Amino acid sequence: MDIDLSQVEHWIYGAEGNETIVLRYIGDNSRFNGYVLRLKKQSPSPKDQGPSPQFSLNFSNQVITPLIGPEYMVPLSIVGVSKDFLQAISSKIEMHRPERRRSRRLDSTQRWGFLAPDLTYQYPWAVELKPKWGFKPASYKIHPKHRHIKKRTCRFCMHSCLKHGRTDLEYCPLDLYSRNPTRVQRALKALRREKHLHKNYQTHGGYQHELQDDSATPWLDELLQMVLCHDPILTRLHRLQRRLDHMDIEHIWNVYTSVYDGKPLPGVFDIDTWKRVVERFKARSSSSSSSQNTEHDNDYQQHLFEFVLSMIFKDCSIFISIAEVQNTNTCNTHPTLRHPQFIRLSNGNMYEYKINLVDVDLKMMAKIPYWYELDQRIVSHTISMDYVKHCEEVVWESEDER
Ligand SMILES: [Zn+2]
Repeated sequence: MDIDLSQVEHWIYGAEGNETIVLRYIGDNSRFNGYVLRLKKQSPSPKDQGPSPQFSLNFSNQVITPLIGPEYMVPLSIVGVSKDFLQAISSKIEMHRPERRRSRRLDSTQRWGFLAPDLTYQYPWAVELKPKWGFKPASYKIHPKHRHIKKRTCRFCMHSCLKHGRTDLEYCPLDLYSRNPTRVQRALKALRREKHLHKNYQTHGGYQHELQDDSATPWLDELLQMVLCHDPILTRLHRLQRRLDHMDIEHIWNVYTSVYDGKPLPGVFDIDTWKRVVERFKARSSSSSSSQNTEHDNDYQQHLFEFVLSMIFKDCSIFISIAEVQNTNTCNTHPTLRHPQFIRLSNGNMYEYKINLVDVDLKMMAKIPYWYELDQRIVSHTISMDYVKHCEEVVWESEDER
């Protein structure tokens, strides 16, 4: 069943990112109850042809899911949308969109969208975190002049210094990934000042509000700290980021420019190529670490594809849905999502929560020169400012290590 003009009044503005706008459903059709509709925004350049909807769906199910685990994924389905619906909804939501986002409207030439479970369905509280880079690169391919700097200060802290000239008081992702309660608390406190990396939501009667004050934070901070120290999600993200980016952008850029020299890479929109990349990555990860840097050095396509995957995991968000529970026999879970977990806080109250990974769409290979140029700018700035910060990385080889 397509979504058409007659249903415009049942969909309201929910949220948006760079590439998509999310609508929330407030009607009474059981097919859409508890779901959101994700629609594509106009491309910045008409020449930018992204992947087909079927590829995007397969990429989520067959590439990202086997890496992070099905329990964290949001199941998607493709749904048809009419041109009249898109034009009408675009006008209706315009006034609700943040002003800074309004330069790109909905793409009214598309004929499809994605239906996904509403992660706030029956959950009054939600937290969205963008944890960013949780590791420091240690590749032997890094230029000797940069090696000790990249080993000492993490990428996020160096980038913050470039953007804001900030000091050691700011957010360091390596604290968040440490599973050390004191460091995780410090990271959460620092994250509250980074509005683009941390959002708290409250949902009332189908409408979701972003909380601007800190009224909810004492219990929420305790809950988040406990969840992030015990749930394997950050350990998995850390391991994927580090292992998929085992060459560093300095070498990846060399491969991209010297081997492919700007020519289109074969297989970028071919799902079987991506599946092979994942299988080979997993086989390498489970074999001895000594083979990591030698056996596959000449497998240029594998390096580039793995690097793009690492960039997806460095830029994704984790969405934590939370509800207070009076009675553990009742649970709020959405029928298509993983069963929630339970946690009791020091105030004696019991909460249920579930974690999902969001913003895991394919990133374009053509961004490699941009990523390299940014990396070099960040490192040069750190050197020229004589910026010294020691970011401590904790490496968990197993999710069960405590
Ligand atoms: Zn840091």
